[in-house]
Amino acid sequence: MMDWKSLGDEAIDLLRRYLMVDTTNPPGNETDGARFLAGVLEADGITCEAADSAPGRGNLVARLRGDGSLPGIVLHHHIDVVYADRRYWTVDPFGGVIQDGYLYGRGALDMKSTGILQLAAVLALTRARVPLKRDLIFLATADEEAGSRFGAQWVADERREWIAGAEYSLSELGFIATRPGTTAPLGTIVISEKTGLPLRLTARSAPGHGSMPWPDTAPHRLIRALGRLLAADRPPRILPETQEYFARLASVLPGDQGKGLDSLERSLQDPAFRARFFGSPHHAAMVRTTFAVTMLKGSEKRNVIPPEAVAEIDCRMLAGEGPEEITDWVRRAVADDQVEVEITSPPKQPNLSPPDTELYKHLADALRGRAPGVVVVPEILVGFTDNWVFRNCGLHGYGFGPFVLDEVEIRRIHGNDERLSLENIVAGARAYTEMLLAVAGA
Ligand SMILES: [Zn+2]
Repeated sequence: MMDWKSLGDEAIDLLRRYLMVDTTNPPGNETDGARFLAGVLEADGITCEAADSAPGRGNLVARLRGDGSLPGIVLHHHIDVVYADRRYWTVDPFGGVIQDGYLYGRGALDMKSTGILQLAAVLALTRARVPLKRDLIFLATADEEAGSRFGAQWVADERREWIAGAEYSLSELGFIATRPGTTAPLGTIVISEKTGLPLRLTARSAPGHGSMPWPDTAPHRLIRALGRLLAADRPPRILPETQEYFARLASVLPGDQGKGLDSLERSLQDPAFRARFFGSPHHAAMVRTTFAVTMLKGSEKRNVIPPEAVAEIDCRMLAGEGPEEITDWVRRAVADDQVEVEITSPPKQPNLSPPDTELYKHLADALRGRAPGVVVVPEILVGFTDNWVFRNCGLHGYGFGPFVLDEVEIRRIHGNDERLSLENIVAGARAYTEMLLAVAGA
């Protein structure tokens, strides 16, 4: 028998104290966060191991042993948070402020809250001496917000034994979104992330004086190349999981707003539908590899035609696509062999976990328990999380959060006045614990 009331109160207190540890990345200072977590675990007699990947960049693991009959589950969160611009916050982002039923603080959603739900579940299962058939591996890492090099990637490279014997990883995002006008809330479980393919286009030509330009200066070539690339219509790729997402989305949209979403491949052949669909940058990014021109460099001086002009492109690959095919496609779109196309850092091949595993079903049940009538969908995230790293290590990785949030709350992620309702913390701690009991209890 669990005392859910006291577990909920404890989760609020733990999250409040955790949010007061400033782990803004850069510089991170995750070691302070790891020290806080270690103190909580050790007070309950749970052994943990902490290690710095670099000075101040703390990572921590604790393992609850199962009977070994089934593989383990990694309960992952990242300790670091993005910076908070205090000028735009109405409360101290590291003050642990509770106001009007909400706990405020940088990391309240992304993602110290999920870490605390996992921690509360680990404490509850330990205290109740619940026999487990799976190991539960509580893993806290540094540096997610700046590329994972000192966190999840470091664990994968240097501390692989920390996640040994695991079959699944649970990390961030995925939650229940409520939207006015919809017929039911939509609960998402993240199954894949798009990954970055950093591209650089470089045009070269003779330099000269700005008073006598000619058509093929390096900047002019580059601009025309970029124009052709942006005008090129990269074909969408509708993965079965993406189709499922849009079909379920259609089922909660009012009136005929969801029309055509249940057969996306066919609907996208209709120019009017296509224009409407691609009018949403989020939906567009869910069905194709995207190219955002984000950095441009030419001359240092207005009257000097430079020998080189460079564009950096934030390209994001969709699962099922690969760097070679994409760069070939870009070269064909650019159609100028004087413009070099290169990949500037080693690409991360996108990966995806299937939405039909035992754990996925338990996650879906947990979301249904939090919001009756919720429609649960697998989501391919257009951003990036550490789950990519764990999938790359052979685990099935899911983004899961038993939180019910409206759009205004969701927009506070990386924004101002990030917060989480006390109801979400209390009910979330119970939902997370019950989900683990169901999937890992012996
Ligand atoms: Zn995050």
